[in-house]
Amino acid sequence: MRKKARCLIIGSGPAGYTAAIYAARANLEPLLYEGMQPGGQLTTTTEVENYPGYPEGITGTEMMNDFKKQAERYGAIIKSGRATAVDFSVSPKKVTIDNEFVIEADTVIISTGATAKYLGIPDETKYAGQGVSACATCDGFFYRKKKVAVVGGGDTACEEATFLSGLADKVYMIVRKDHLRASQIMQDRVMSNPKIEILFEHNTLGLYGENGVEGVHLVKRLGESDEEKVDIAIDGFFLAIGHHPNTDIFKGQLKLDDVGYIDTEVPSTKTSVEGVFAAGDVADSLYRQAVTAAGTGCRAAMDAERYLSENKL
Ligand code: NDP
Repeated sequence: MRKKARCLIIGSGPAGYTAAIYAARANLEPLLYEGMQPGGQLTTTTEVENYPGYPEGITGTEMMNDFKKQAERYGAIIKSGRATAVDFSVSPKKVTIDNEFVIEADTVIISTGATAKYLGIPDETKYAGQGVSACATCDGFFYRKKKVAVVGGGDTACEEATFLSGLADKVYMIVRKDHLRASQIMQDRVMSNPKIEILFEHNTLGLYGENGVEGVHLVKRLGESDEEKVDIAIDGFFLAIGHHPNTDIFKGQLKLDDVGYIDTEVPSTKTSVEGVFAAGDVADSLYRQAVTAAGTGCRAAMDAERYLSENKL
């Protein structure tokens, strides 16, 4: 087993695999550890229709398999295993895999992604891929002329609701407080949109439907004397209550922003530690698309290659 790498890539979504393709073709002999969810978040969506080059669409899992095969074809070594600790204070950098062994790496590309937050109700799992989604840009197209609900009251929820209103006939926003948290401009946008109805002070109890989601059970003013249960017929249920960047092991090692995303020296992928680069959703709270992640994966590999040659490593 290889315990040394010129370029170690942590994480295997579009960012990680693209970094592996570029690094392999630059002769960096990259070693990639796939992490908890090989293929990343895309493997939990249904069809991907917005990635250029797939005119008929493709499932997220198939697409990630293609990315992986392409990286392996050029010599990338792809292993299952999860980075459980890092030490970036030394050179080469040390990355512990599965709490079992340490890899020493001249450069590290972090592409551990972000995880969409879910409410934690069992129906989210029951209807996964059958009407429950955490990405309107990915799945909204399937709800043309249908009714959908978006949970959340932040900028993401407003953005997703606005996007969905261009496709669906009706968009409900399920907001637990009596106000939105989003920026004023986004609030104004959803408030003035005739297709969007905001259900303030509503919480989700569950979903129902024989063949996929057909409706949502809500409770209005939970715990108050006038608490009321309401059912609403919908075809799609979109979570937009935030994302959690997968950066727990990098705390204290790299500069992170307030939410935990890795700070990079945009437009490069350089982090606060020389030789460590970040690509994809782990450093991007804004776009979060497969194609943008792949783009930063390419940049990270090019940044790593430059770092190695400048430092004669
Ligand atoms: P936020 O944390 O800002 O908002 C999350 C929303 O989800 C809040 O309304 C919150 O309610 C609600 N929520 C959280 N947990 C639950 C729950 N269990 N049940 C019901 N509702 C829940 O996340 P965003 O993803 O919206 O935004 C993250 C960051 O990214 C923000 O800084 C945002 O400004 C930024 N962003 C900017 C954009 C832009 O500028 N175009 C676009 C998208 C995001 P509550 O208010 O009650 O806590």
